[in-house]
Amino acid sequence: MSEDWSKPRDIDPLADGRVSIDFAIAIADFPRLRPQLARADGRVTGRVRFGREQGMPVADVEVSAQAELTCQRCLAPLVWPVQSSGRVVLVADATEAERAPEGLEPLFAPDHRISVRDLAEEELLLALPIVPLHAASTCAGSESAGEARHRPFERLNELLNESPGAIHDEGPSRRTR
Ligand SMILES: [Zn+2]
Repeated sequence: MSEDWSKPRDIDPLADGRVSIDFAIAIADFPRLRPQLARADGRVTGRVRFGREQGMPVADVEVSAQAELTCQRCLAPLVWPVQSSGRVVLVADATEAERAPEGLEPLFAPDHRISVRDLAEEELLLALPIVPLHAASTCAGSESAGEARHRPFERLNELLNESPGAIHDEGPSRRTR
């Protein structure tokens, strides 16, 4: 079954019917996301649930994906797991945006229509880091990557110093008593 997730749908009947739509969309099919990806591989899965808040149409969007980004320090690929959800209020113009319930992100839906893909993409873009970076300990471009290798031993020393009793309960420290 292949569904056209980029097809705009009429929002009002979806909101009135509190319609819930499960989706699985190829990550390559998100035009605004693509430039941020090192590789457009895999799928975005999730669910959109429509409803109303203060009379206005809203959508609760859940997305799950493994986005392959580019580390901005070493320029190597970086897999960024996305598991995100949020609620948007769907507005057709600036007047509607002004009436939007407090604290809700307005999303422009021309002619009160929007596609599932556009809803999912908005949530994905919010979930991605502005500057993706590997953790310092694993990034080839990080100066602290070398230092990080010593850390397991430093941590062990800390443990030994902090709680000698716990670690040497049956060990040499007992003999000194
Ligand atoms: Zn890196």
